[in-house]
Amino acid sequence: MYVVGSSFFWTMVVYYFFFRVPGREITWKDFVNNYLAKGMVDRLEVVNKRFVRVIFVSGKSPHEWQYVWFNIGSVDTFERNLETVQQDLGIEVENRLPVVYSTESDGSFLLSLLPTILIIGSLLYTLRRGPAGLGRAGRGMGGLFSVGETTAKVLKDEIDVKFKDVAGCEEAKLEIMEFVNFLKNPKQYEDLGAKIPKGAILTGPPGTGKTLLAKATAGEANVPFITVNGSEFLEMFVGVGPARVRDLFSLARKNAPCILFIDEIDAVGRKRGRGNFGGQSEQENTLNQLLVEMDGFNTTTNVVILAGTNRPDILDPALMRPGRFDRQIYIGPPDIKGRASIFKVHLRPLKLDTILNKDNLARKLASLTPGFSGADIANVCNEAALIAARHLSDAINQKHFEQAIERVIGGLEKKTQVLQPEEKKTVAYHEAGHAVAGWFLEHADPLLKVSIIPRGKGLGYAQYLPKEQYLYTKEQLLDRMCMTLGGRVSEQIFFGRITTGAQDDLKKVTQSAYAQIVQFGMNEKVGQISFDLPRQGDMVLEKPYSEATARLIDEEVRSLINTAYDRTLTLLTEKKAEVEKVALRLLEKEVLDKSDMLDLLGPRPFAEKSTYEEFVEGTGSLDEDTSLPEGLKDWNKDREKEKEETTDEQVARQITGGMPF
Ligand code: ADP
Ligand code: ZN
Repeated sequence: MYVVGSSFFWTMVVYYFFFRVPGREITWKDFVNNYLAKGMVDRLEVVNKRFVRVIFVSGKSPHEWQYVWFNIGSVDTFERNLETVQQDLGIEVENRLPVVYSTESDGSFLLSLLPTILIIGSLLYTLRRGPAGLGRAGRGMGGLFSVGETTAKVLKDEIDVKFKDVAGCEEAKLEIMEFVNFLKNPKQYEDLGAKIPKGAILTGPPGTGKTLLAKATAGEANVPFITVNGSEFLEMFVGVGPARVRDLFSLARKNAPCILFIDEIDAVGRKRGRGNFGGQSEQENTLNQLLVEMDGFNTTTNVVILAGTNRPDILDPALMRPGRFDRQIYIGPPDIKGRASIFKVHLRPLKLDTILNKDNLARKLASLTPGFSGADIANVCNEAALIAARHLSDAINQKHFEQAIERVIGGLEKKTQVLQPEEKKTVAYHEAGHAVAGWFLEHADPLLKVSIIPRGKGLGYAQYLPKEQYLYTKEQLLDRMCMTLGGRVSEQIFFGRITTGAQDDLKKVTQSAYAQIVQFGMNEKVGQISFDLPRQGDMVLEKPYSEATARLIDEEVRSLINTAYDRTLTLLTEKKAEVEKVALRLLEKEVLDKSDMLDLLGPRPFAEKSTYEEFVEGTGSLDEDTSLPEGLKDWNKDREKEKEETTDEQVARQITGGMPF
């Protein structure tokens, strides 16, 4: 098979080049100086928007080739360059070169057949070698067919997750509660003639508890929980995906009533018809099969299908039609109240120092962990316990939690990575630049800590307390950009040279600048427009705006960043003595916290919030769950009655006056 495959490959390659361009390749400069300027060119032919064939005036061809050609990046640029060059050469408008456009087969369709041929080849090869070739432990010919079996896992009696273990997403719980009721008393719904929703898609960033919530739903309803990952349907063999979907649904039917959870459904649920070769159509078949199976369920099947994804935007709309996943439940990153309640959940099993009150600790930690997801918080609690164990303490204290947070943010401390004194100095001045710039910019986030101890994720780091804010003004964004540039500016001021250490900062600044101009319509020249920026991992598609707009955007981005840089330079030059003070103290102590900064710089000239109580002021009660919708409150009360014995929770309730989850 290998030989067959490779000879095919070479045939394709030969075809490809044969079809492509028999003439000679030249450069743009060649074209201008040796051909265009000498008046040898009759016309230009743009082929497939990719290269340009230069056709000579008859009899004037300087070579044995019929024509020469050159590559172009884009038709837009080519046209513009051609225009400029002819203008520069003083060619009259009516004598300018005619340009024709054409499409030709360049053999790439043959090349695009290649994957299919390889797959068929390898399948034939496997068949000839016999079932063992599949590697799935010789089950006779069954080996070949067993690839169509689902890889889903069924959890039956071992689900110990309940709603009380999921904190900080009360609205989502309320939405999903209906499914619990339905699984428990389907008759109540049937008697009323209600159509039961078949499923829901849980969306939101990773680690916010989507899987956990789905599992808790099964735990509450006391039904089996079947989980499968969307990527398990993607196999190279034709027909395996759909076969696995069929198998999965028959497994679900056997276990009904149950909850079927498909994690990362975007792997199979991508929008159809994007016309790529290879696996695409197989993925479409799998998706179609999924839709067919969902439609095949009726209200008496008693299977609720939940799916999780962090990319709801790329899902095929057919998935969301009524009768399929007709609910979309968003679980966002937790805010400060949400984080406090998630901390409460994860502090529950830990053995804490007796002077610590779990409630107060949870609030304190919530204020120290902006931007953390539920998974990060679980991680912090576990790390704290590990650190305490490493120090042979018999209980976990506040220091351990602080170290755990640092570790989750920055990665492991690298004791062995010794920085050269020169480098260490650079890092100290860089971080001091950030810290001082932030201190004197009104809209920058208050500083919590800066450190120059190298960690897994960088040489130094600074931790801030961002406001829980959802709308930003232009001025606020500018202040943040300036603070991010503070590191590089400080290097520039003190050493007159810059290092590679600011790459991450520059990336952030660039992203912010593009977002302001392309997404938020904050630039006067570009205007009130908004386009999606490509996300990480996206294929870069064609830009949705013209080449001219693209150039304008690039210019404006550059000018915005330059403005921010100059502003930071002015600020830090003025505060040079302060930066120096902070940098020297950093070199001496390696870690500075807010009290050190106060000591060195005096109070920050702007009001700022730092405690839990200040953060949640004016947003209702202190705890998030006292403002629960009525339905969930009753629900919780029932749960509470069942749990009455647990003294810990009684204490919590007394203190908060609310529901302890
Ligand atoms: P997702 O499926 O959204 O990526 P998971 O449900 O797998 O996230 O969450 C991973 C872990 O993070 C959970 O097992 C749990 O320990 C913790 N976690 C996440 N969100 C919460 C939450 N809201 N309450 C309690 N724990 C949470
Ligand atoms: Zn930096």
